[in-house]
Amino acid sequence: MVNLLGMTLAQLQELCADLGFPRFRAKQLCDWLYKQRVDNIDAMTNLSLANREQLKSVAYIGREFPVNCQVSKDGTKKYLFPVLDGHYIETVFIPENKTSDLISQIHQPSDLSRQTTDLSRATLCISCQVGCKMGCRFCVTGQQGYHGSLSAGDILNQLFSIPEFEQLTNVVFMGMGEPMDNLDAVLAVCSVLTAEWGLGWSPKRITVSSVGIVPGLKRFIEECQCHLAISLHNPVPQERLAIMPVQKAFPLNDVLALLRQYDWSGQRRLSFEYTMFRGLNDDLAHAAHLIEVLRGLDCRVNLIRFHSSPGTPYRTSTPSAIKAFQDYLNRKGTPDSRTRIVCTLRASRGEDIDAACGLLAGKES
Ligand code: SF4
Repeated sequence: MVNLLGMTLAQLQELCADLGFPRFRAKQLCDWLYKQRVDNIDAMTNLSLANREQLKSVAYIGREFPVNCQVSKDGTKKYLFPVLDGHYIETVFIPENKTSDLISQIHQPSDLSRQTTDLSRATLCISCQVGCKMGCRFCVTGQQGYHGSLSAGDILNQLFSIPEFEQLTNVVFMGMGEPMDNLDAVLAVCSVLTAEWGLGWSPKRITVSSVGIVPGLKRFIEECQCHLAISLHNPVPQERLAIMPVQKAFPLNDVLALLRQYDWSGQRRLSFEYTMFRGLNDDLAHAAHLIEVLRGLDCRVNLIRFHSSPGTPYRTSTPSAIKAFQDYLNRKGTPDSRTRIVCTLRASRGEDIDAACGLLAGKES
């Protein structure tokens, strides 16, 4: 049995050919799956009954509702979806006010309680794997190990099966898993989201993050127009290696050499995620080093306040250290005509329900 959800137009055309359906049926299937978002084949009423029965004998629509939803005091919601025999993944819905997107929680904590009714932006942070192979030392998901990759249908289901689907303005692949390690599925989902036969979203509404797996990145950049975010976290190779094992196989320098081969000054945005760890990467020497390694790139650096979890040896940077780091990057971030670095501080969301960056565990609670 194949899951129709997540299939591209080309894949549906192939399926229709195998079933002896006329070619136009594939487009009808796309309409039902992605425009009407039906959850069963019987609802596809412009297919003959015989065609529907035939389709049901080989295919299904893999819609699965979340089994739990935790709601943060700031309005963030964390959904728990069952996937792959007995495992769970988490998906985080983040309602936000556009103007406060770049405002630090540290300075304006009261900004974080918002009503979902006056949203200017609503982001869904989705997972692409159950656990993760990358083993980043500061990440709860990474410490859990890897239990499997999600299908394109499992990934799309995270959008389609939450009640807030219609409110979504953005999707980020920043939940559990490394997108470049499940690239076929991630690219299929990006196609469904952006293609005219799919949801028809602008690629600017989607950001895919990666620790920097060079071959996957190259393919992603060439086959997809969505924004790219690289998890950088430390510009000093030995120090980065201490928190991100991927640095051994794919050193940051190789990742940056690849990124410099492309033009990032247009619509597509390149950003670097930089989690602030007290005493490890949050002083101005690191900020200066970061500017050096990013030379030649037009990019954004997103600072993320580290969210401590039990057992972790890392600590959260002080608000003043974060502010000084950000100010330094914004002051010195254009050292030459080829380089432009804009530094923002990501507001921290859903910390009270462990929905913040690096805290997703996929556990029933
Ligand atoms: Fe995997 Fe991302 Fe966690 Fe690293 S930070 S272990 S890539 S989920």
